[in-house]
Amino acid sequence: MSKINLKSLSYHELSDWILSLGEKSFRASQIWLWLYHKNLSEFTGMTNISRQFQNTLKERAFIFTLPLSKTTNSRTSQTRKYLWKLNDGNHIESVYIPEGKRKTFCISSQVGCAVGCRFCATAEMGFIRNLEVHEIVEQVLAMQRHTGIRPTNLVVMGMGEPLLNYNNVMKALWILNHQDGLAIGHRKVTVSTSGIVPIIEQYIRDRHPFNLAVSLNAADNETRSGIMPINRKYPLDSLIRAVKLYARQSRKRVTFEYVLIKGVNDSPEDAHRLLNLLSGIRCKVNLIAYNPVRGPWSRPDDQCIHAFAEIIRPLCAPVTLRLSKGDDINAACGQLATTATDRHGYNL
Ligand code: SAH
Ligand code: SF4
Repeated sequence: MSKINLKSLSYHELSDWILSLGEKSFRASQIWLWLYHKNLSEFTGMTNISRQFQNTLKERAFIFTLPLSKTTNSRTSQTRKYLWKLNDGNHIESVYIPEGKRKTFCISSQVGCAVGCRFCATAEMGFIRNLEVHEIVEQVLAMQRHTGIRPTNLVVMGMGEPLLNYNNVMKALWILNHQDGLAIGHRKVTVSTSGIVPIIEQYIRDRHPFNLAVSLNAADNETRSGIMPINRKYPLDSLIRAVKLYARQSRKRVTFEYVLIKGVNDSPEDAHRLLNLLSGIRCKVNLIAYNPVRGPWSRPDDQCIHAFAEIIRPLCAPVTLRLSKGDDINAACGQLATTATDRHGYNL
């Protein structure tokens, strides 16, 4: 009989399983508090659970933990990157980004990524596999154990395209959001997508409450298809239509991420096109300076970035410039790739 992996169960699944063992369903709440509030990795410490039931749990279930392969601290910020080893030998990364009171945990959704954006290090790995629910949930718990800090914000912006691992990512987020889980409010959780239109539509139908961020990176089809091949399958008009539908239904502001790459998408004309494209959409825009990973591209200079931000100011949207925290340790956006980090000095 294979053991139950507790961190892969929703609250309902756990209470059903507990009932099937002849126990009372309130045990589910107790177990979750130990797993998620106390972040316990062993049954022995669950002091309000009888020794007898602890033994049953030990026989029939287990608490999955992610072994740490390596942590890297940024020299220029407090950002810290964690490399975890999965049971099958693959590695994934998560990033801890403290900024004042805000403690953001950035987690991965897949090993590698199939989307193939030309500017992204993860794309170089190709797609290896989807992460399981417990592997997604445990990234947050493991970082919490290592930092001793509870996340205030959670972003699914690490390795992988979360909407291509939709069911597992959503189930994991609901576990983390649950009152007896980690209780991270849905307004503090953001899922970032490269724009998988049919799954955005499903996300809208399923009425998930988490924030959506869309990696736009260009405001015309030619430029976008050149750097994000997924745009040929789901071009801008279909993406914007889906985003508008989402904004209308959820009444939330959508975040658009725009990686500025010198000479590719950073001209005043590009900024005006972006202004046109997004006018009328309640949104936030995150301008991110490109983190060089390979190839001929570089980041624009600060003056150019500020000029770009100035042009899109009339969107009446908060425009934020992401300072790419942690890029000295390849923990910044698009630099999360275990094959790439191998080459940056990891000894796996
Ligand atoms: N697959 C999802 C989430 C992971 S990528 C997505 O694409 O949205 C998270 C963010 O990192 C995206 O906004 C992406 O555009 C950005 N990114 C990727 N490579 C980058 C790089 N080299 N420099 C800066 N940002 C990058
Ligand atoms: Fe995948 Fe996102 Fe990287 Fe594109 S930017 S290759 S979707 S991880």
